[in-house]
Amino acid sequence: MARLVQLTRPKEAVHLVEVELRAPLRGEVLVRVEACALGQLDWNLLTLDAPPRLPLVPGHEAVGVVEAVGPGATLRPGERVLVTPLAGSCGTCAACRGHDARHCPQVAWRGMHADGALGTHLLAAESALVALELPVGMAPLPEVLPVELAANLAVCGGSLWTAMGAVRALHLVQPSKVAVFGVGGVGHLVVQVARALGHTVFATDADPERMALGARLGAQPLGPQVDAAVVCTPSTQALQQAVRLLRGGGRLALTGTSPTGRVDLAVADLVWRGLTLTTGLLGTRDDLDEGLALLFAGKVQPSVERIGLAEVPAKLWSLRDLGFPGRLVVLPG
Ligand SMILES: [Zn+2]
Repeated sequence: MARLVQLTRPKEAVHLVEVELRAPLRGEVLVRVEACALGQLDWNLLTLDAPPRLPLVPGHEAVGVVEAVGPGATLRPGERVLVTPLAGSCGTCAACRGHDARHCPQVAWRGMHADGALGTHLLAAESALVALELPVGMAPLPEVLPVELAANLAVCGGSLWTAMGAVRALHLVQPSKVAVFGVGGVGHLVVQVARALGHTVFATDADPERMALGARLGAQPLGPQVDAAVVCTPSTQALQQAVRLLRGGGRLALTGTSPTGRVDLAVADLVWRGLTLTTGLLGTRDDLDEGLALLFAGKVQPSVERIGLAEVPAKLWSLRDLGFPGRLVVLPG
């Protein structure tokens, strides 16, 4: 019997259900979830008038162990996998052929178009899962992960991948000044990734608790001018402030999103000052591997609050005001 968190009606509270999941079909595997992160994307889903499907299990990034496999599967029971926001794609378009499924016109997002990992188990296409590869020379992970490690790995498939991808999208070839706007689930990882890569990091957040988290992670208060910026909040004011702080020729990456967020920038600012605006949701496969390497080297330490499945319905509401420092991670075991 699997226990899952489900949304059954738009804008209503999620609740716990017990279901008997069917055996995996061809190309599918059954994953026992060890830890699943909860973030703003999950909250955004709960605010939609018409979610793409119902009932729906949220949860777009997690870590787990393959428990059963369908016919023809290449993953084996006992293998550890990362669940990422990518749930499926066409497999044949230019983006898919270039191993960049996030830009496939038919991409399906986990916890939105397909059930997410917020429960004890997840039935998923194996092509959408990432087998966890450890850095060379590292001892194999234990059969039962320590809770700290499980929680840390839960944020790798989405938040850390996005943080790494956003910093790489800045194309910084020498040590630079980088401003981070929003020290939340992704932002606090951007601060650490950028510092680990040798940059000087400045950070700001409207929330004092998250501001303090940024300072503990080595970020300085915003300086007068920066080479690059990562805006991890859908706030228009943060975006405009980032544009003002950038030097001519500077680069800006956006990762924060909300159903109602808007970009409102002076075109002249971008054109005359030669600013480059890019976005980041996940990165390349190399970015994911590089993020994992930083985690296993101890250079990135996610800030997480661990909770049980039963606490999810109430805790999801705490994400509403963007006020949570780090990530909430659910340990369903
Ligand atoms: Zn495609």
